[in-house]
Amino acid sequence: MQAVKGIVKNFLNLIYPLHCLGCETALEAINELRLCGHCIASINRNAMPPFELDSSPVLAYSACLYDSGLKELVHRFKYKGKTILAKIFSKLMIDYIKDNPEIADVDLVTVVPLHRERLKAREFNQSLMIANPISKEYSLMLTNTLEKTRKTRYQNELLKGERIKNLKSAFRVSPKADIKDKRILLIDDVMTTGSTLGECAKTLLNGGARCVTCFTLARGI
Ligand SMILES: [Zn+2]
Repeated sequence: MQAVKGIVKNFLNLIYPLHCLGCETALEAINELRLCGHCIASINRNAMPPFELDSSPVLAYSACLYDSGLKELVHRFKYKGKTILAKIFSKLMIDYIKDNPEIADVDLVTVVPLHRERLKAREFNQSLMIANPISKEYSLMLTNTLEKTRKTRYQNELLKGERIKNLKSAFRVSPKADIKDKRILLIDDVMTTGSTLGECAKTLLNGGARCVTCFTLARGI
């Protein structure tokens, strides 16, 4: 019996490593977020009202603040191959929707697209990975509605004025996407100035969407 328990435990350890996904500290027991107490405490939930994007009549909600612990987790997720963190991020976002249910009162979920070359280099669209569990939780269709038509510089390398110019006409509605009169939830990982979300929202509205709500894991403003 003891041997069987040992095998089961080792097997579970393979699937659910008993180490904090944030800092690798050994965990005594698996908690829901699979983070140690220190890493959980370093995530700051967002208590601010939704941000009004200035380029369009669109509200942007964010579950957390983009600072301290979450910055490190997002970095590990996007650039260190820790894609399993997507589950934690979507959990934080679903928790936030429970307090702000209007976010999920939409017809479909979509994400900010990556240019195909950047997608090839990174191998995954981080926003799609975060959006997937959210769309499932609320039985909403998750679909790519936008395409990035040209490569742009990283927004965080640019000043605000340059950011808007950098994104001008960088997105278009995918020819196959059916967005006519749809209420759309647009998901991304982090909002910095809101320029990217604003440009995507504008593209969707110009393409016939009835309304757009933006929702990110974290906001840096
Ligand atoms: Zn930790």
